[in-house]
Amino acid sequence: MVDIILLGAPGAGKGTQAELLRDGLGLPSVSSGDLFRAALSERTSLGLRAKTYMDKGELVPDEITVGMVAERISQADCAAGVIFDGFPRTVAQAEALDGLLGKMRRRVDIVLCIQVLEDVLLRRLAGRWTCRNCGAIYHREFNPEKVQGVCDACGGELYQRPDDTPETQQRRIQVYLQQTAPLEEYYRGRGLLVEVNGEQAVDAVQHDIVDAIGIVRS
Ligand code: ADP
Ligand code: ADP
Ligand code: ZN
Repeated sequence: MVDIILLGAPGAGKGTQAELLRDGLGLPSVSSGDLFRAALSERTSLGLRAKTYMDKGELVPDEITVGMVAERISQADCAAGVIFDGFPRTVAQAEALDGLLGKMRRRVDIVLCIQVLEDVLLRRLAGRWTCRNCGAIYHREFNPEKVQGVCDACGGELYQRPDDTPETQQRRIQVYLQQTAPLEEYYRGRGLLVEVNGEQAVDAVQHDIVDAIGIVRS
């Protein structure tokens, strides 16, 4: 049983690494951003409420976010552990997660903090394309799909997220520094934080992450 958190600024590569880890470990990845986007595409009230914050690059309030994630991790496929991508993003969310896992006699086992400098983050976000169907992540320059506009994995259509505009990108990075970066201290203090150099090729980052997880599990 292993519960893993991927921490890092927007564009650091959390989603990309979560996809690979999910395939490697056979655990589900739970991305709060993906859950909000799924809720929005189903036009639920939660999705529509979240959209007003996402469009501005602000965090969705903790109460809404925690409730949604709690519901997701109570499902059967999450019983053996979860790869958390983009959650928690505030200290209040981290405390809530400790409580949720505690009730299941689990705990956060490791927090991988993927580190990337701001100018690289912006280049990554600017070139990000995502599959509308399966959520696979591509980059126009760094990780292009084989046939332009078509997902390699499922043949779905690629799109650019509406919150990947230059203004929103800047704001999201600011929000990370103000509201999410304090989590680095929160988890470092508990001896759970491992820093990973995110400015390497995707495979090299994955290698470092798998190594770090291997040490915790053995
Ligand atoms: P990125 O991959 O660029 O970091 P995400 O898909 O994780 O973006 O998140 C997109 C948006 O969804 C965020 O800007 C925020 O509005 C909202 N969101 C996602 N996760 C959370 C969270 N844990 N707490 C609050 N808001 C969140
Ligand atoms: P996050 O979930 O942290 O916001 P993503 O996984 O969505 O980050 O990655 C942001 C963009 O950067 C995507 O276009 C992705 O293809 C690209 N990317 C991810 N990891 C790397 C890497 N190690 N080197 C170059 N580009 C990367
Ligand atoms: Zn796809």
